[in-house]
Amino acid sequence: MAGGALLWVLAACEGAPREHGVATGPAGEDAPAETPSATAGTDDVTTELARLAPAERAETPRCEVPALPIPRPRACGRGRPYPRCKWLVPPAPRSEGRYRRWRNTIPEHWWARESTVRFVLAVADAFHEAFPEQVLAIGDLDAPGPRHATHDRGVDVDLYLPGALMVENAGGGRMPSNYEDESPGEVEVLRGRVLALAQLLASCSRGAVRIYYNDAVVRERFLAWYAGQGFPDNPFPEGPMVAHNRLHEFHFHVSVPEDLAPLPFAEGGDALAHPEATILAPPPAASAPHLSSRYRRPGAEGSSRPVAAE
Ligand SMILES: [Zn+2]
Repeated sequence: MAGGALLWVLAACEGAPREHGVATGPAGEDAPAETPSATAGTDDVTTELARLAPAERAETPRCEVPALPIPRPRACGRGRPYPRCKWLVPPAPRSEGRYRRWRNTIPEHWWARESTVRFVLAVADAFHEAFPEQVLAIGDLDAPGPRHATHDRGVDVDLYLPGALMVENAGGGRMPSNYEDESPGEVEVLRGRVLALAQLLASCSRGAVRIYYNDAVVRERFLAWYAGQGFPDNPFPEGPMVAHNRLHEFHFHVSVPEDLAPLPFAEGGDALAHPEATILAPPPAASAPHLSSRYRRPGAEGSSRPVAAE
């Protein structure tokens, strides 16, 4: 179903404004597939944009948890609630290429509510199926402390698409743009992947998601698509996608409700021997400087003032 899923997730481009010289059909007309050839710089771009053709958009994603062994403590088997019971995102080498761990995230920060971990794994699976060439890096889940204002209730996760989001977090306060040196067609491809990830997050939560992300173009397209999905009312006052501080130019901060419905396993997942594991407390932030990696604005007045991530 890879092709169908891919085409489905990009349906939101329909009727959305096309920027950077990529042609637009009349309002309401399905025309994105043939538009990039005049401006795209490479055959690769043309090929990927051709995958956005409107014909097969109807298929919705499966939203199943891949059949991977998922560590959890014995308390889960005894029916204990969060936070006695948390699930751990399986180590990236066990994910069969579906995701990586973000470079500043430690394994102790990969625990969360069962329903949140199921959701993250299902979205990662569907995204990888649609975009096997695009790395998805999973950052912090539960990571209370100076690094975040949130990430303390089992419902938050940070997601990264290296090379595809607005900017890169290159370290040392450098945040180079991923778009300014790219052709208009390539920018469309990159934004298409970002939009696709947002759509999967919304679909696999039945709309019960809030994403902090700052690209106004993606946000406009996403919100237009979201409004047409028939989801129940969004449970977050800010709605499903909203801009936040500039840290949210290089990652999605994703939140779901505590009572998010647990997604089902793909075939075989229930029968796996899921390893028993102890929830390990993260080391104190002071003992590991990268754990308090508040961003410092380069060259700005008051540059020593940190900006906390959500
Ligand atoms: Zn976050």
